[in-house]
Amino acid sequence: MSGFVFSEKPIGIERGEGATLYADDGTEYLDFGASYAVAAVGHCHPRVVDAVKSQAEDLLYVQASYPVEARTTLYEKLATVSPPGLDNVWLCNSGTEANEAAMKFARNATGREKIVATRRGFHGRTLGALAMTWKDKYKKPFEPLAGGIEFVTYGDGEELAEAVDEETAAVFLEPIQGEGGIHPAPPSYLKRARSVTRKAGAALVFDEIQTGVGRTGTLWACDRADVAPDILTTAKGVASGLPLGATVCADWIADADPEHGSTFSGGPVVCAAANATLDVVVEEDLPTHAADVGSYLMESIEAADLPVRDVRGEGLMIGVEVKRGSNRLLRDLALEEGILALPAGRTVLRLLPPLIVEEDHADRMVEALEAVL
Ligand SMILES: *Cc1c(COP(=O)(O)O)cnc(C)c1O
Repeated sequence: MSGFVFSEKPIGIERGEGATLYADDGTEYLDFGASYAVAAVGHCHPRVVDAVKSQAEDLLYVQASYPVEARTTLYEKLATVSPPGLDNVWLCNSGTEANEAAMKFARNATGREKIVATRRGFHGRTLGALAMTWKDKYKKPFEPLAGGIEFVTYGDGEELAEAVDEETAAVFLEPIQGEGGIHPAPPSYLKRARSVTRKAGAALVFDEIQTGVGRTGTLWACDRADVAPDILTTAKGVASGLPLGATVCADWIADADPEHGSTFSGGPVVCAAANATLDVVVEEDLPTHAADVGSYLMESIEAADLPVRDVRGEGLMIGVEVKRGSNRLLRDLALEEGILALPAGRTVLRLLPPLIVEEDHADRMVEALEAVL
C-alpha cells in the first residue's frame, strides 16, 4: 500500500524548527522553499503552536453558523490587514477552494460568465480553478473544465484592455506569477487591470495565495502597486500549515449574497493558527525583513558570477533561471548541500524561504549554488 499522486523524496522528515527541517537519520535541511511557502513564520513557531494547543483543548470544531471567538477574530484581522475596501471574509480549506469561491462570487455579483486569466498563470486544480490555470499538462486529461475562460498575455495592458468587456465577470491575476516561473508584474499593469475592470463593471481578483502574508516585502504584493482588488485570495502561509484559505471581498461582491458553503469553513483550530501567524507577521514586521533579506539574497546571487540566465522576484519570492534542468539541481542541493528548494517549470529554481531567514542563511544558499552549479 502506498500514497499516490505525490512522488516522495527519499528524505523522511521528523521535526521542524524555524527554517530548519530535521530528518529521521539526523540530517538537517535548510527549508528554502518553506514547504510550498507554507512555513512563512518558520516551522512550528512557538506562538502558533501554543495557540493551536490551547484552542484544541477548548473546542476543536463548531459549524460556522455559530460565532466562535477564534473565527470572529480572524474575520476582523483579515479585514484589517487586507487592502482598503475588502471587509468581507469567506474561509475555506485551501488556495484552490478560495479561488473557486472567488469565481462563483464574481459570477454571482455580476450576473456574467466570462473570466479573463493569464498565460503561465496558476490558480489551482479543481475543475473551476484548473480552467483558469494555463498549463495544458495539468488540464488536458481532465477536460471538460469550467467554461467561459479567456487567456491573455501576462503583463500586456493593451491585450487585457481589449479582452475585458461588458460580458466579463472577473479578471484573475497573480501580482507575481509563482508556479509559472516567478514573473513580477510591473505596478502599471496592476493599475491598468484596476481601471479596465472598474470601467467594465467586472471584478478584479488578485490571487495572493503565494505572494501574500508578507512574502514579497509588503503584506500583500498588490500593496507595492497601491492597487486594491475587489477580491483577494490567500492560503499557503496564512495559517502556518493548518489548512486555511480565505476569499476577502468588497461590499458589492458580498452584498450580492452568493449561495455557497463548506463544512469545515473557519474551524476554530485553523483560525487560532492563522490569528497567531498574522500577529507574528505584523508585530515582527516580517514584510520589511523579507524585503531586506530578499534584496541581499538577490544581490548576492547576482554578484556571485554563477552560470544563470536571470534572477528575478520581490522580497523572498525569487526565481533563478538556470541553464540546466531544475530537477537535477534541486536533488544536488538537497543531497549535497542540505538545502531544500522548489522548481517553477523546467529551468527555474524557486526560492521561497521562511520570512524569518537572516543574511547568513542567504550566504549559505549562495555558497550552495556556487558548489552545485
Ligand atoms: C498554491 C497556489 C494555489 C493553489 O493552492 P492550494 O492550497 O494548493 O489549493 C493557487 N494559486 C496560487 C498562486 C498558488 O501558488
